[in-house]
Amino acid sequence: MAKINKNCSFCGRPESKVGFFIVGMENANICNECAVQASEIVKENSASKTSKLGLEKDQLPKPVEIKTYLDEYVIGQDEAKRYLSVAVYNHYKRLMQEKSSDDVEIEKSNIIMVGYTGTGKTLLAKTIAKKLQVPFAIVDATVLTEAGYVGEDIESILTRLLQVADYDVQAAERGIVFIDEIDKIARKGDNPSITRDVSGEGVQQGLLKLLEGAIVNVPPQGGRKHPDQKMIAVNTQNILFVCGGAFDGIEKKIASRLNTRTVGYTAGKAHEQVDKQNLLQYIAPQDLKSFGLIPEIIGRLPILTYLEPLDRVALRKILTEPKNSIIKQYTKLFKMDAIDLTFDDAVLDYIVDKAIEFKLGARGLRSITETIMMDEMFEMPSKNIKKLSILLPYAQSKIEKANIHRLKTA
Ligand code: ADP
Repeated sequence: MAKINKNCSFCGRPESKVGFFIVGMENANICNECAVQASEIVKENSASKTSKLGLEKDQLPKPVEIKTYLDEYVIGQDEAKRYLSVAVYNHYKRLMQEKSSDDVEIEKSNIIMVGYTGTGKTLLAKTIAKKLQVPFAIVDATVLTEAGYVGEDIESILTRLLQVADYDVQAAERGIVFIDEIDKIARKGDNPSITRDVSGEGVQQGLLKLLEGAIVNVPPQGGRKHPDQKMIAVNTQNILFVCGGAFDGIEKKIASRLNTRTVGYTAGKAHEQVDKQNLLQYIAPQDLKSFGLIPEIIGRLPILTYLEPLDRVALRKILTEPKNSIIKQYTKLFKMDAIDLTFDDAVLDYIVDKAIEFKLGARGLRSITETIMMDEMFEMPSKNIKKLSILLPYAQSKIEKANIHRLKTA
């Protein structure tokens, strides 16, 4: 008769010294502790087979694929989507490049997106990050100040990234940072100031270091409330920075540049074709300079793209078409209470009309829908009704009773 093995076949300890055994063939056992260790070894091995990105080379999504994915969540903005898809793809190819003998080194391609607020800049950046499964942090440039002033230091940008990467420095070092409202750190006026400019040029200089690629000491808790914290060194060389801003009034700079050009030999036909309703599409680096970004920053954001203003048709699509559109979200909320919710088409048009009337853009679609739905969301789960159709008079009555000012700040 075969002898029964009473010990773990890996560490040799008896069952009494460990938690339990998993019994295998031919009298083999593995104790719970060795099983955990074995699983770690398996994990480590498979991680080292994948690239620095945690993605196999052939898993890296191609630009067309990235754009198709963006299309599922973001309406319109074709130009920005194409630019972003290519930039992100190149960025990750750059991360995967092997040291080669040809001395060709692919440079970083940080991006700047110009477009009115609420046209999808943040949504685009967020959606891309979701697709690529890399740490993604959103920071607001308005809170940044130079060291020594009240507000957050430039390094705090990386604190956010570290936090979302669970303090995995390697993961953070290949992440994406979206810096919103970059236009708010433009220097006031076109001339370099002699006095120190707290919110403008100094911050831009600080930011430059990050964009260029540097080893930055980052306070892991951020802010100045924890003076004793041990700094973490983060190399920004491979971090992709995507900046966004509304650049209010930049159309005037674009228009005046386009006009000046008409004085020269390009006058005539090209000028006639200028679409005055949407001047942002002609944006060029020199307009950012006239607006107050320093040339060094502009140089470090080589990919410049713009977002279209959202018209009625786009807003209407935003309401229903994206994968997680507002209407789909409400339908799902009600479905969880086994209620079949539908909106009359006239209601959807009405929501769009109100968003335009109150100048709320895409952000307003949610607050308006929320106002219309609030009472039903409160009452329906307690009623025994299985079907709910929202009709125009009902929607109108809810909005007419609502406090417009509250809608506007939503
Ligand atoms: P921005 O960063 O340009 O100010 P956001 O990306 O934050 O604007 O957009 C605000 C909200 O409006 C988003 O969460 C989204 O619901 C909606 N939205 C804006 N633009 C679009 C778009 N092009 N497609 C789909 N939804 C959009």
